[in-house]
Amino acid sequence: MAIALARRYRPRRFSDLLVQDHVAAVLRGAVQRDRVGHGYLLTGPRGVGKTTAARILAMALNCPRREPSGDPCGECDSCLRIWNGSASLDVVEIDAASNRGVDDARDLRERAMYAPSEESHYKVYIVDEAHMLTREAWNALLKILEEPPPRVVFVFATTEPQKIAATAAPVLSRLQRFDFRRIGPAAIRERLRAVLAEEGIAAEEDALTIIARHADGGMRDALSVLDQCLSFGDGAVTAARVRETLGLAGDERFAEMLQVVVGRDPAGVFALVERLMDAGADLGEFMNGAAELLRSLLMVQVGAEPEGLTEAMRALLRQYQGELEPGDVLRMLRLLTDNETAIRRSANSRLVVETLLLRWAMLDRVVDLEQVLRGTPPSPSGTAAPPRSRPVPPADPGGAEPERRAAERRASATPAASAPPTPPPAGETGPGPAGMAAFPFTLEAIREAWPSVIAAVRAESRFLGEALAATQPAGAEPPELRVTMAEPNPLLHERLEQQAATVERVVSTRVGAPVRLRIALEAPVETGRESPATRMSESGIRAARLKGLRARDPALDAAADELDLEIVE
Ligand SMILES: [Zn+2]
Repeated sequence: MAIALARRYRPRRFSDLLVQDHVAAVLRGAVQRDRVGHGYLLTGPRGVGKTTAARILAMALNCPRREPSGDPCGECDSCLRIWNGSASLDVVEIDAASNRGVDDARDLRERAMYAPSEESHYKVYIVDEAHMLTREAWNALLKILEEPPPRVVFVFATTEPQKIAATAAPVLSRLQRFDFRRIGPAAIRERLRAVLAEEGIAAEEDALTIIARHADGGMRDALSVLDQCLSFGDGAVTAARVRETLGLAGDERFAEMLQVVVGRDPAGVFALVERLMDAGADLGEFMNGAAELLRSLLMVQVGAEPEGLTEAMRALLRQYQGELEPGDVLRMLRLLTDNETAIRRSANSRLVVETLLLRWAMLDRVVDLEQVLRGTPPSPSGTAAPPRSRPVPPADPGGAEPERRAAERRASATPAASAPPTPPPAGETGPGPAGMAAFPFTLEAIREAWPSVIAAVRAESRFLGEALAATQPAGAEPPELRVTMAEPNPLLHERLEQQAATVERVVSTRVGAPVRLRIALEAPVETGRESPATRMSESGIRAARLKGLRARDPALDAAADELDLEIVE
């Protein structure tokens, strides 16, 4: 296959423009009636046909064999040259991403003054990625557009029209704007099917579905994925081959994921991620797929019909739609969006994904526990006698500190609706939840300030804050600050090691001296002086707290039994 499919099947006529009939009709009509404007702005997502439409317009304006409908013939010498993007006297393509200087704009202005090569011809400038043009370039263009030379047409294509609005509003008012639509999965599938039929290649329906979903509205992307799949091997295009090409996980991995969540099986998370890694799946792609699946699940649950799903996925949705509450699915989606950036950007996306899946697998029990500990009644389950709604009784003085810590940890463990989706950028010393006073670099002082250190770190990274909450200061010998993890937890430990600099910075600004964080995995040797809380994990504290509450409050005790609350470990 010498020519790439995306190129070979690129439209040559207005009527070939997929889905963009509204644009095609107007442009074709303008050509037909000889009322083409001087400036057009074509906006829309990647790969939906903006540049192609601009070329077809240029072809139509310069085609000696133009059809009465306004469509170019698509076959004459002039048409082919323009369509190929090769040298044409009358069509100039400019990639603004690489030509953004004033000089280029000045050059453009001078060149625009030259008339088209022949009297009947139009000079068409196609400016791609137009939002990349500088203000100076736009100013130069504005002068041209204010007094446009005859038979000169500017076509600007952009994915980000709002940027042009910000830098070149006066130009915008002189352009005729067309918004290109995203191409839906059904239209992409149909087009792929037609192309494959033309090529005489068979394909599984699921294979086309996966490509269409992956291309996310871009025809060009869909065709180049298909190209890659074809170069991968002979014979029919199968779903398996498409997944392999794209590094996608199989539907059975998504089934496994839902089973881990529905079965409340945190241990299954590690096996699942292991298998994904073994199969060479891209974790970011997998979580994209998971998001898509949850969204579809939610749609099915509220009675809508999701599109673009493979048959296996449909079966999955049927199987699980009754197993998860829509509220749970929403919470899972929120946790996922909160962590999207981390999944994509983190040096250790595996850790982020594992932590997220763990939280999914523990979701509702954690939430119920929060409610009980907060003293608010659990969501009405209908049958259970609700616990009395009253504030949590004050604990005895000895337990005050662990209680406070527990409260903070609870705040972080909840998929908090109030928490900002993205932490403030590191380095910013904005007022965190705990605007802390300075304290000396001594173990005692650091221990006392530890909850507020945790809070400040959490304000920058919720994950890191949670990891830090599982530690206790165990030694302070400037510049070294030694912390121990109450229980060995490789996940949290790794996270702390990776982002030690953030903790160091937070402590350092408070003690006014450089800090080196050292993390020990094992619990410290018993010194006899430490309070029991320092050796308790977060869940241990919760367990103790819940036990205490249950002992004090029989109603709560009953409710906890009813709701099958248990401490997730
Ligand atoms: Zn032609």
